[in-house]
Amino acid sequence: MKLLSECPLCKSKKIGKYGKKVLTKRFKPKNAIDAEDQFLLERLKKNTLARSICLCRSCYLLFQNPTYNQVDLKNLYNKSKPGIIRYYESVGLTTENLWASTVSQKNLAERQSRYANEIINRGGTKILDYGGDSGINLLHCSLNDTERYVYDFGQDSLPENGIHQIKSLNVDHRFNFMLHTHVLEHEPDPQFSLSKLRHLISPEGALLLEVPFEYAERLLIRRPGAVWHVNYFNRKSIIELAERTGWFCETIKIKNLPYGHISTNCIIAILRPAFKGLKRKRSLENIQIVYDIILSLFMRLIYDQFHA
Ligand SMILES: [Zn+2]
Repeated sequence: MKLLSECPLCKSKKIGKYGKKVLTKRFKPKNAIDAEDQFLLERLKKNTLARSICLCRSCYLLFQNPTYNQVDLKNLYNKSKPGIIRYYESVGLTTENLWASTVSQKNLAERQSRYANEIINRGGTKILDYGGDSGINLLHCSLNDTERYVYDFGQDSLPENGIHQIKSLNVDHRFNFMLHTHVLEHEPDPQFSLSKLRHLISPEGALLLEVPFEYAERLLIRRPGAVWHVNYFNRKSIIELAERTGWFCETIKIKNLPYGHISTNCIIAILRPAFKGLKRKRSLENIQIVYDIILSLFMRLIYDQFHA
């Protein structure tokens, strides 16, 4: 594990510990959340682990501290080891309740169609899905005539039919559309991938960024979430991140979207490569954060009403 003394996004030292959770190894998990914690302890080969959540007082990012180092990430995302399902099954959950459910299949088809629409509408012809596993996000039939590539940290999935796998980001390619969805919250250094990808985008290209918006939940319960997530973004921190990595946010919004077997609040942004001379308005950002939090709580409330 790696203990951070500054914000991993904006590098400010104005950070404060905001909450803490101590994980302890047990014979049998208590519930689904504990099942994830037990899985984490197993993968990191630990009997106890204190995970804290910190708040950056400059960009308002919430982040896990200590965060994962490269060795931890390799252990966590190693697909050749037994997966988390054993732990879920011990609390009564099965793949049919989760990612293999008909709801998950329907949600996946909906996402594939939504991404394809964005790509086609923005003229994407040479597409990279960053962190897209086997390239499953790019399988909509309307993309059949495009060039489709996938890069994933794990690199151990066989690519889907029609998808080219890239083994290293140090390639001499230019893409005119990039998907970067549900990856950034897993990356301890949030600047890393967006900086790398900035060199691979064509001047008129666009990047679709999507991350879960679980900010208000974290703010309320004051502890880190699922095993996998290390950073919890709001709109201000995404705009800040885009600027620091050579992009600008053309649009940014919050929406409740299907993901896996659930619906979840997401931040969705279209990033464009930034060139010198672009300035953003800063005056409304702090109001925007308050608005974001109220909005996400409200969306959660509405969602819970209909899915209770
Ligand atoms: Zn920060």
